[in-house]
Amino acid sequence: MRCPWCDADDDRVVDSRPADSGSAIRRRRECASCARRFTTYERIEEVGLVVVKRGGVREPFDRDKVEAGIRKALAGRPVSNHQIDQMVDRIELRLRRKGPDVTSRQVGAEELAALQKVDEVAYVRFASVYKDFQGITDFERELGMLLEKKEPAKRRPK
Ligand SMILES: [Zn+2]
Repeated sequence: MRCPWCDADDDRVVDSRPADSGSAIRRRRECASCARRFTTYERIEEVGLVVVKRGGVREPFDRDKVEAGIRKALAGRPVSNHQIDQMVDRIELRLRRKGPDVTSRQVGAEELAALQKVDEVAYVRFASVYKDFQGITDFERELGMLLEKKEPAKRRPK
């Protein structure tokens, strides 16, 4: 590692410890040439999430696109920007767990699931667009699931 003080490329690590709750390693280094110290952080390179579209076209996951879709579905609905941010965060997190490659279908399914929890009107709006991409069967299944959940709870036999 090149010394930021004297530009020499000769140092030793004098201390090494976890940082950022373990997502990074912080190293204190001492330059062998000028004896001054500096710090480096080692992190895992951000893993790119790739969306595989129908037909096999691959494109980088676009968080803004997800947010735009969610916002469109929620237009005029009583949902705050903060809630929308949280939804998009959660969608991205869940997709990253499934990554590094996810299908556009998985992206849509996560968006649907997020909307379902927050606003049923937006959910149905989104589902009606989504069906164009995924076929009527999936849409009906999704809607069926929603309707099932809305049925009054049946009394459990004792
Ligand atoms: Zn130096």
